[in-house]
Amino acid sequence: MNVKEKDGLYIANTYARFPICLKSGKGSLVTDEEGKEYIDMATGIAVNSFGFCDNAWIDAVTKQLGTLQHTSNLYYSKPCADLAELICTKTAMKKVFFSNSGAEANECAIKTARKYAAEKKGSDYYTIITLKNSFHGRTVTTLAATGQEAFHKDFLPLTDGFVYVEADNCDELIKAVENNKVAAVMFETVQGEGGVLPLDEKFVKTVFELAEKYDFLTIADEVQTGNGRTGKLYGYMNYGVKPDIFTTAKGLGGGLPLGATVLGEKAADVLTPGSHGSTFGGNPAVCAGAISILSRITDELLAEVNAKSDYIFKSLSSAKGVKSVTGKGLMIGIETEKDASEVIAECQKNGVLVIKAKSKVRLLPALNIPDDLLKKAVDVIIKACE
Ligand SMILES: *Cc1c(COP(=O)(O)O)cnc(C)c1O
Repeated sequence: MNVKEKDGLYIANTYARFPICLKSGKGSLVTDEEGKEYIDMATGIAVNSFGFCDNAWIDAVTKQLGTLQHTSNLYYSKPCADLAELICTKTAMKKVFFSNSGAEANECAIKTARKYAAEKKGSDYYTIITLKNSFHGRTVTTLAATGQEAFHKDFLPLTDGFVYVEADNCDELIKAVENNKVAAVMFETVQGEGGVLPLDEKFVKTVFELAEKYDFLTIADEVQTGNGRTGKLYGYMNYGVKPDIFTTAKGLGGGLPLGATVLGEKAADVLTPGSHGSTFGGNPAVCAGAISILSRITDELLAEVNAKSDYIFKSLSSAKGVKSVTGKGLMIGIETEKDASEVIAECQKNGVLVIKAKSKVRLLPALNIPDDLLKKAVDVIIKACE
């Protein structure tokens, strides 16, 4: 039995996988089990921030693995405390709760917002406003936060207390804030799964003005947009705002599971002993790897990310068969005249891995993808769009 057959037989049928079995990789190159090499423009959905098997990250993780691989949160652990300090220092936030995924990071943010509102304004202030077309995770509560009915179907009833407004529609947002007892507004600064759509500056400003006026919390879901992906350390930094809570995961661990719920001044002391927890969250080996990732996302690296982004936008915007290019930094969506799946298959045939976001082709290359590989990949993508 080959891998595809075995997978079909034993793995739960939740994924529509591409017909490729990846075997090994280094940097932005990855090889399948038949020995075919690809330039990777997907990084395992924005996870492998510095590409496959990045040396500094491997060193950090393996060194910690040989020292102490897991402690549980019953004990103090240095990598965990060091990573929290690094995140807070870089963002001027106050405290971090570590978990293992984006969905869990968002669950913690939702619990924190509800507890904040319950204590401050009363337990009926539980409503969380999220955006239509958003994506916040697959647990029953983060599905409820996800403003897309297609994901809800067959799993009802979901957690109560979520209200959806159209992204960039300030009037709808204002109405929702006036008509509900709101604990928080939660948003992605660039909707990733929704089609790589950045929010309007005016809309984001309005969220923060309303938060001030009505004293609810702002939650930025930076699971995909975080950790340098959009050309700033976190996506909200493109808007000159500072959320009360931001969540992140994907790129933070550089390839190992790690979620973080990062709390600002207002939210820092809401969680108390026993109110939340995780067995694996803040695992020392995972945190040691994340320190090596986050400490290399410097202004110089971000300048490179933005230069690579400009190159992609310029090259693709004028290409034949391309209707539009959206996104920020190295999180890019391409609306193509051809069906996106067709373009993706053509890219795969020619040795480039790209993925889909709704009906678009999505690019999420490594933050440090070498310029020659980027150019080669972009040339292949342009040809595939024609
Ligand atoms: C991927 C993603 C999630 C869910 O993360 P998991 O690690 O799959 O649970 C949540 N929010 C956003 C914006 C995402 O892109």
